[in-house]
Amino acid sequence: MTEFSPLSRRKFLLAASATAAGSILLKGCTGNPPEAGTGSTSSPGANPVASVKPGEEPEVTTAKLGYIPIVEAAPMIVAKEKGFFAKYGMVDMKIDKQANWGAARDNVKIGSAGGGIDGGQWQMPMPYLITEGLITDNTKVPMYVLAQLNTQGNGIAISNKHAGKNIGLKLNEQVAFFNNLKSGGARFKAAYTFPKANQDFWIRYWLAAGGIDPDAEVELLTVPASQTVADMKRGAMDAFSTGDPWPNRIVADKTGFIAALTAEMWKAHPEEYLAIRKDWVDKHPKATRAILKGLMEAQQWCDNFDNRAELATILAKREYFNVPENVLLDPLMGKYNLGERTIDDKSMAVLYWKDSKGSVSYPYKSHDLWFLTESVRWGFLPKETLANAKTLIDQVNREDIWKQAAQELGIAAADIPTSTSRGVEEFFDGIKFDPEKPQAYLDSLKIKKV
Ligand code: CA
Repeated sequence: MTEFSPLSRRKFLLAASATAAGSILLKGCTGNPPEAGTGSTSSPGANPVASVKPGEEPEVTTAKLGYIPIVEAAPMIVAKEKGFFAKYGMVDMKIDKQANWGAARDNVKIGSAGGGIDGGQWQMPMPYLITEGLITDNTKVPMYVLAQLNTQGNGIAISNKHAGKNIGLKLNEQVAFFNNLKSGGARFKAAYTFPKANQDFWIRYWLAAGGIDPDAEVELLTVPASQTVADMKRGAMDAFSTGDPWPNRIVADKTGFIAALTAEMWKAHPEEYLAIRKDWVDKHPKATRAILKGLMEAQQWCDNFDNRAELATILAKREYFNVPENVLLDPLMGKYNLGERTIDDKSMAVLYWKDSKGSVSYPYKSHDLWFLTESVRWGFLPKETLANAKTLIDQVNREDIWKQAAQELGIAAADIPTSTSRGVEEFFDGIKFDPEKPQAYLDSLKIKKV
């Protein structure tokens, strides 16, 4: 795993020269991948009546979207399986399983014309890093963020060898435990599925809120989501941060327990996103809106708890997650056996369309800013990023396209946000993020690299 070091302001500027030198690439992460690249061959499980209005006919009927087998991918899979993409004229959508996040990044760089993908599911701020060439060997591949796929549905799993040590949501009583491990030469190993994105941020936030410096006191490593259970079983890691159903499997397999759900750390937090290459979207604006309309209908379908048993059946299929259905169903219903405690609360489950703060699907610019700010916090991006963030976010985040698609779909005005900011966010440790004052947020944090 190659780290990329903090970047100079010049390299991060939109107008940065393509000749900017320096070792800032991030190599794909290896692991034992799940079956990948076969795409979906299933026919839709439902046949919604085609609903292509005059003037809205898509320029093409296909696009290739990548996904990772975690619950974040559900809206794309359901839109394909239940015929929602087809309903809006996208009758030949390809939903393609990616071996890991590095493979998704490599595949979007080459695009579908080169045998890759046009876009798909992303952790943040991957679409920004790809746009700026920061994880693509300096090759800038401009992307558009078009929708949020989900909120919640992620967790931090801990190996059973640390059971009974009161490792939960709040770590303040356990600082000595981490310090003792470190001084004994066996630093706590915590894994995420891709560095410098959501799951890295969640585990860092959790540790730092508990007084543990993730850079100095633990060892962080990258492991593909599908490999986390096997790696924890063979003792390769003490903890990992990833999407359902993998944390739940750890408990089901009696390999570990769940310390915290991301829904406990930040209720209704931003999670993963649909982003597609800018060149594809610019060339196919109607097809882009058709994809969004299909996705939004799928998100509404997924959000209905009456459909979640069927959702588990669909996702469990061999060509999708290839896991036992019962491992998926409980977390989808908000029933979490964390090992040392239980949660039975639908509002803590993965949500796809609406949450306690309003719209899930709408991509708030204020959330993109949090991810960029958190990148600055940990030294992944230079602090000058904040000064340029608005320009960059306005270029990459196309909430305007989401709104246009929502209007074409006939979404009620009350369900279409009127501000690109969701306002002040509050975390479980009382820290607040005011999108108007990202520097004040950074100043309020005790453990940080900036
Ligand atoms: Ca995730």
